Amino acid sequence: MSEPDKTTGPAVVGKESAQPPAAGASLLAPDWLPAPGDANALTDRLWAAGVARDGAGQLTVQGIPAAELAETFGTPLLVVDEDDFRARARAFKSGFEAAFADLCGGADVYFAGKSFLTLSTARWAAEEGLRVDTASGGELAIALRAGVDPAHIGLHGNNKSDAEMLDALTQGVGRIIVDSVDELRHLAELAAQHGLTAPVMLRLTPGVHAHTHEFIATAHEDQKFGLSLAPATGDDDGNVTGRSPASVAVEAALAAESVELIGVHCHIGSQIFEADGFALAAQRVLAFLAEVRDAHGVELAELDLGGGHGIAYTAVDAPRPPAQIAAALAEAVRAATAEHGLACPRISIEPGRAIAGPAGLTLYTVGVTKTVDVDAPDGTTAARRYVAVDGGMSDNPRPVLYDADYTAVCANRAPQATPVLSRVVGKHCESGDIVVKDVYLPSDVARGDLLAVPATGAYTHVMGSNYNALPRPAVVAVTGGAARTIIRRETVADLLDREVDPQDPAR
Ligand SMILES: *Cc1c(COP(=O)(O)O)cnc(C)c1O
Repeated sequence: MSEPDKTTGPAVVGKESAQPPAAGASLLAPDWLPAPGDANALTDRLWAAGVARDGAGQLTVQGIPAAELAETFGTPLLVVDEDDFRARARAFKSGFEAAFADLCGGADVYFAGKSFLTLSTARWAAEEGLRVDTASGGELAIALRAGVDPAHIGLHGNNKSDAEMLDALTQGVGRIIVDSVDELRHLAELAAQHGLTAPVMLRLTPGVHAHTHEFIATAHEDQKFGLSLAPATGDDDGNVTGRSPASVAVEAALAAESVELIGVHCHIGSQIFEADGFALAAQRVLAFLAEVRDAHGVELAELDLGGGHGIAYTAVDAPRPPAQIAAALAEAVRAATAEHGLACPRISIEPGRAIAGPAGLTLYTVGVTKTVDVDAPDGTTAARRYVAVDGGMSDNPRPVLYDADYTAVCANRAPQATPVLSRVVGKHCESGDIVVKDVYLPSDVARGDLLAVPATGAYTHVMGSNYNALPRPAVVAVTGGAARTIIRRETVADLLDREVDPQDPAR
């Protein structure tokens, strides 16, 4: 996954920004962040469907007050609205199924497990008719233990170990997405040694990299993933070939008796809002499938267009519904297959963030607050309020890794104090330990209050760490108006349990 850029883009009119700017707009605020009229407002597209405020102003998840969740399960707490997760999974399934129904008999949706893989989330995805993508032996083990049909599991990775590949082969995984010529040859050998056939998709890099509202199209891509469509000056052995790694891999795959070449795959980025990048990638890859047919007389059966569908992290993000992306993609696939006289391959996609992200929110308890003076861009001095919470980069590393923006609201009450520009920070020994870089919070938010950060379902639990020996948070799922633990909170005892020191008195 790569998220090189900060989430930016034209401001769209949402519930908050539609209101006239309130007094107290800060010179330190980024352009995209207006001072809100009501800092307690919940912008719909940021929150899981079950999130609301009750009559007393408290944030609730399917009717359960935030304070009750915090009291029962502790904080920091990742709360997942299971019904919302399932609804988003269904929206992808039905949207793509409908758009591709008459073109190529529907489409398969793989939940990109790496975004938020647990036994529960894998099972929910499978129960909603999705398949599951994994990217390691560990993820594969979770999907299998969740009861996902091995034939409906994909295995990714740019450097799969022999053990991982063998595991996938013997478990009957439906597709192994191969990343390089080297890996293809090695996998073919492994499969042959064990008398097995490897179901292979080739991951291609079509020279399209998309993020938010833009995509970049090039011939070459300087990245570790995939097989380039562009002719290479030399192969891995230093021979001059003038052929693309993709065509070398196709030839090798077709020649290997232990390989069944199912199709090709591409994944062009993350946090993508527009369909044009996906469409261009599909065109380039379909043109390649036409070349394969012309060279080898084979029409490959499947085309996976990857994941990367964007979500709203702040009020400026306005993602399109899955059905709209699906319709645009179906049009591109229809045009390209017609142009090349190709039968439409079976289409699949791999959304992760767009299913898991908005279904989650993180509850934190506020500790220290303080205000610091900062030099403002106009030469004056402006105040920034720091609000420190009981988690941080260990439960959500995206701000420190990608400079990612989030927002937050006070969850245990709806304070009426004037909103002031605030920075929500964690408790780690690292100045980059930011939870929400810029948000207007009521000026009286203080020790003991709860903050809720929306859109934290994806790439948080799965990227968590134990930095500063902080035990990782619990994950609770809410459905039918009831909350239950799906990942228990880690304890300091869990951390100490891995210690093997000969002088340890507790041994
Ligand atoms: C990360 C990844 C995905 C999922 O990306 P999202 O942004 O979570 O939708 C899908 N496919 C591949 C190959 C990936 O690497």
